[in-house]
Amino acid sequence: MLCQDLIKSSYDFTILYSYLNIARLSVQDSGHTIHPMTAISSKTDIKELTRDELILWLKYRDIKSYRANQILKWIYLRQADTFDVMTDVKKEIRKRLSQHFSIHRLEKERVETSQDGSKKYLFKLSDGKYVESVLIPEKDYYTLCISSQVGCAQGCLFCLTAKGGFIRNLTKGEIIAQVRDVAYDIGGSKRLTNIVMMGMGEPLANLSNVVGAINIITDSDIGLGFSSRRMTVSTSGLVSKLSDLGRETTVNLAISLNATENKTRDMLMPINRKHPIESLLNACAGYPLMPRRRITFEYILLKGINDSEEDAKRLVSLLRPIQAKINLIPFNTYEESKFECPEESVILHFRDILNKNNYTAIIRHSKGQDISAACGQLRANMILPKLSVSNSDKNI
Ligand code: SAH
Ligand code: SF4
Repeated sequence: MLCQDLIKSSYDFTILYSYLNIARLSVQDSGHTIHPMTAISSKTDIKELTRDELILWLKYRDIKSYRANQILKWIYLRQADTFDVMTDVKKEIRKRLSQHFSIHRLEKERVETSQDGSKKYLFKLSDGKYVESVLIPEKDYYTLCISSQVGCAQGCLFCLTAKGGFIRNLTKGEIIAQVRDVAYDIGGSKRLTNIVMMGMGEPLANLSNVVGAINIITDSDIGLGFSSRRMTVSTSGLVSKLSDLGRETTVNLAISLNATENKTRDMLMPINRKHPIESLLNACAGYPLMPRRRITFEYILLKGINDSEEDAKRLVSLLRPIQAKINLIPFNTYEESKFECPEESVILHFRDILNKNNYTAIIRHSKGQDISAACGQLRANMILPKLSVSNSDKNI
């Protein structure tokens, strides 16, 4: 059962849940606990609240619950920046909302456009930390790659995001804001339809905020309304959290496999020492897949490390029990990296072995290489020196 269903099924539980959440928000915001009945001390970004939490906030002020949808539609469908513009909401309600909440947009520190049309957004968060999102143009639509954390604790050897370690989880509002703000920014007829959580961070290490954000991003009643079929969460393999993701959302799952033997994966991805390949693939085989869906396995190709014919054959047999498709990602090199990308012929040969064994295997070259915009490489080598020149990289 979805977490939201659970919450809706028990009104008492809703109240308890919301008390906890609103209290938690207050703690996060101000460092003090306050009683949710009274007020939220400093202004909280209203995007941090679930619909149920907003309903409850309104209820305590004797405001009808249908107002919640009206307010949320203004925020997500009509992209309102103030409560003042919400003309079908009573003036008194708008006043109370603006006393307690803000409608925050992320500060765009820098936006860079690549020769291939991809656009990298460097957002400055309210505590001065930086996070990136990448907008990728496809033929008829856009895909947006978003982040779930500032930095990452998983320490994968090939990944630039890992270099600076883990800084903090993104809040629910900060995850949603990447989608809302970029959607607002896009002009023209091409629409943003696909979201991939393949930016900075490990989504399953920030699961409650990720799930909360997904619930809003895919809520068709209030505006953003992205299809969960077109949303993908990518994980390095936090096995203990996989089933929670499957239970609480219907988004697509991608697994960064990147190796076919434990000794190689242990070296590349420390998470493998805790959850080896067998246990990861077991969890994948038991994952509650929606009908006609497959799990995407991402496989970075690293020269001389995991790109042999034997690797391709092992990959075929490892994935046999699973409804799988494979994305081959030629390693996106960066300065100081000890890894190299294999020759084109090696990449094609690897793909052909998978295809001959009836796997859909697509080679996905990272977009925006000239602006270091490859997803998973979001704290790019070019950004760090630039920001340090402007003396503002202390928090990155
Ligand atoms: N933490 C999650 C999601 C973010 S990383 C995960 O690991 O799945 C998203 C993807 O970028 C992962 O598949 C990762 O293997 C890939 N990636 C990281 N660094 C890369 C690089 N230098 N070149 C190509 N892909 C990279
Ligand atoms: Fe974290 Fe993913 Fe990078 Fe690994 S590949 S360090 S899990 S962001």
